[in-house]
Amino acid sequence: MTPGQDRAWQVSLWRLFALGGAALVAGLALDAVPQCLLAAAAGGLLLQLWRLRQLQRWLHGRSRRPPIDDAGIWGSIYRGLHRSHRTALASKRRLVHLLRAFRTTAAALPDATVVMDDDGRILWFNDAASRLLGLSYPQDVGGHFSNLVRSPRVTAWLEAGDGESLLDVPAPTDDALRLGLRLIPYAAGQRLLVARDMSKLMQLEQVRRDFVANVSHELRTPLTVVHGYLDLIEPEQLPELEPILHELRTQSRRMTQIVEDLLTLSRLEAQDSLPEERVAMAAMLRTLKREADALSQGRHAIVVEAADEADLLGSTKELHSAFSNLVINAVRYTPNGGTIRIRWAPRDGGRVFSVVDTGQGIAPSHLPRITERFYRVSTSRSRETGGTGLGLSIVKHVLQLHQAHLTIDSEVGVGSTFSCVFGPERILQPAPVGEEA
Ligand code: ADP
Repeated sequence: MTPGQDRAWQVSLWRLFALGGAALVAGLALDAVPQCLLAAAAGGLLLQLWRLRQLQRWLHGRSRRPPIDDAGIWGSIYRGLHRSHRTALASKRRLVHLLRAFRTTAAALPDATVVMDDDGRILWFNDAASRLLGLSYPQDVGGHFSNLVRSPRVTAWLEAGDGESLLDVPAPTDDALRLGLRLIPYAAGQRLLVARDMSKLMQLEQVRRDFVANVSHELRTPLTVVHGYLDLIEPEQLPELEPILHELRTQSRRMTQIVEDLLTLSRLEAQDSLPEERVAMAAMLRTLKREADALSQGRHAIVVEAADEADLLGSTKELHSAFSNLVINAVRYTPNGGTIRIRWAPRDGGRVFSVVDTGQGIAPSHLPRITERFYRVSTSRSRETGGTGLGLSIVKHVLQLHQAHLTIDSEVGVGSTFSCVFGPERILQPAPVGEEA
């Protein structure tokens, strides 16, 4: 208890004693002590009841000011109640202010923001959600998102709820707008859907793709001409220029390869899917071994390890391009005398195609960027081996089009394992005899 509260008690007790004393003196004077004491007790009780009534009216009334300002216990109670009322009011005001500021900020966001519960029922959305998703306030609050934004892709994505972004969805309000959607669970039973207008970004990406494709295409013809003329010159015709001609031939071949790889990448990027056919893996592994042997020229031991006869569902041409890129890299980056294993093995219901080498390996710091275009661990070594720096990008794109992914395990000086991991839906049981492609 604070000294102020102590004092209020003392004041009230003194008042009680004073009332009792006055009743006693009056009783003695009138020779009616019991009656006077009773009257004083009844008066005191009535006063307390009246104070309680005042408190009740104040608590339920609208007035904020306490009805009495008394030095006794009632004054202390009123002051305490008034103080906690004021504190509660101030924090409520602060909260309302904060909520308003948050809503104004969220409403002003250029991205559509929709708060919904676990069942997909809309709880709140901002202005951009009306513009980009076509939601209307207030009638759509409480409605199911999937019923209001009718798109089978969006519905399937919402149901999956696996945290992956959904890109390139046409806006329900305007087909020309392309949206990128993200779903963020942020509180128990609540999810935040953020839809961003990606049209400009997609346009830029398209301009970049077209530019690379056009440049590569335009370079192809002059390069073929240069290449053709260089091939026409016989070494005996200009023996003194032979070293220069040899270098010119090597470099023009390298440029042609870069252009071809860039065109392959552009073609893969422009595709949403590839033809789906039975990829005969036994034949594929034989072809890869033949190619590796031809490139290695006996400098490495090439071993094929196939655990079973399962085939793949996908594009033979593109998968061959991806697998052979890995095999060629293994031959290029493995010193003479090394071993290269080409494996086809089951994993988690799916299958893994891996190329294991005993080569120079890759330091962990390079791994996150290794599949980027033109990213090389050592530019000079890569040039020496005739690489274009685009091989692993092609592998990544081909795998993406097969819903597969690339994993790389590598240790410097020990070797690397490049694995293409395919899901069970891509695996075909062995074809009956006579059907192999
Ligand atoms: P490149 O045409 O230069 O080989 P890639 O995209 O195929 O381009 O590979 C990118 C880089 O990854 C290479 O330059 C090389 O440094 C590294 N790399 C790829 N495969 C291997 C491997 N089997 N062993 C070691 N390093 C490798």
